[in-house]
Amino acid sequence: MSRYLSDKYQSLEAYTPGEQPRDMRYVKLNTNESPYPPAPGVVEAAGREAQRAQLYCDPVCAELRDALAARYDVKRANVFASNGSDDILNFAFMAFAGAGVPAYFPDISYGFYPVYAALHGIEARPVPLKDDFSIDPADYLGLDGFIAIANPNAPTGMALTRAQIESILKANPNHVVLIDEAYVDFGAQSCLPLVAQYDNLLVVRTFSKSRGLAGARLGFAIAQEGIIADLERIKYSTNPYSVNRMTQAAGIASLARDDYNAENCRRVIATRERTVARLRELGFEALPTLANFVFARHPGTDGGWLYGELKKRGVLTRHFDAPRIADYLRITIGTDDEMDVLFVKLREILEA
Ligand SMILES: *Cc1c(COP(=O)(O)O)cnc(C)c1O
Repeated sequence: MSRYLSDKYQSLEAYTPGEQPRDMRYVKLNTNESPYPPAPGVVEAAGREAQRAQLYCDPVCAELRDALAARYDVKRANVFASNGSDDILNFAFMAFAGAGVPAYFPDISYGFYPVYAALHGIEARPVPLKDDFSIDPADYLGLDGFIAIANPNAPTGMALTRAQIESILKANPNHVVLIDEAYVDFGAQSCLPLVAQYDNLLVVRTFSKSRGLAGARLGFAIAQEGIIADLERIKYSTNPYSVNRMTQAAGIASLARDDYNAENCRRVIATRERTVARLRELGFEALPTLANFVFARHPGTDGGWLYGELKKRGVLTRHFDAPRIADYLRITIGTDDEMDVLFVKLREILEA
């Protein structure tokens, strides 16, 4: 820290992203990326745009938003796009909380929510998960603030139903309820069908997990026009060109082959089911997951230790040194071959 940093950031604790190590090739099961490459045509589309990189990109993201609108049966005015869904979450905290409006989110959830709250001087009011790590919708009724819920939740993988989310929307008509659907394509119910009915619903999605484009940075949101206009206002007050031209083209090409993306999601789901069963055979307790990762612990072993032993053997997982979850590892679902490597190493470690 330099002596010039503003007082308002002196105590800011930044988000710690998962490792992206360069020292060796790991079986990488730590940041919930897709194990499969982007859809056919994506690389070519991005490459064509790269040849025009001397020109600014379309700040409106018109073609991309039209493609998303067609895909999700809404209008362009209902779609917002930006540089990863993290960007959109940041804008949403800026736009819909603060100035006396607190932000509510589960105490165990995406680690960025408390960071955005701190960054913007928003009062954070974490809501404890139940003992089984589920979210109780009853805890979110009639609150006096902005609400952000990841569905499925991270790092648990557990999901609410659309009806449960609807109960939260109904009970908070004066505040935005943000549903972060980063992992919804892996089997949970989306609340997109509720957008037409609830003007306080903001659904945030990403191309990072289910479309294999984490490195391209493309997130989008769907809501009624007013909320989208608010997000546009923030985007145009920071960086109108937040989605570069290669990424806009990549997104459009990816949507054109959403059959390929859906097939990959089915493969991940099948691998996930096998992985959960194999973990349980090895004595792990695994939370019921509808995401592309599984949150599990092995009785009698420490999560941090197991993470370290796996890393030594070339398998990266994610461990959170936080209350209630320090025993657990979050393991991304890779290819079947990658999961086979994981299980060879786990047996080696647990038998020693
Ligand atoms: C990965 C993740 C994101 C971030 O996605 P990007 O679009 O890559 O920024 C947002 N929310 C949750 C819950 C995530 O796990």
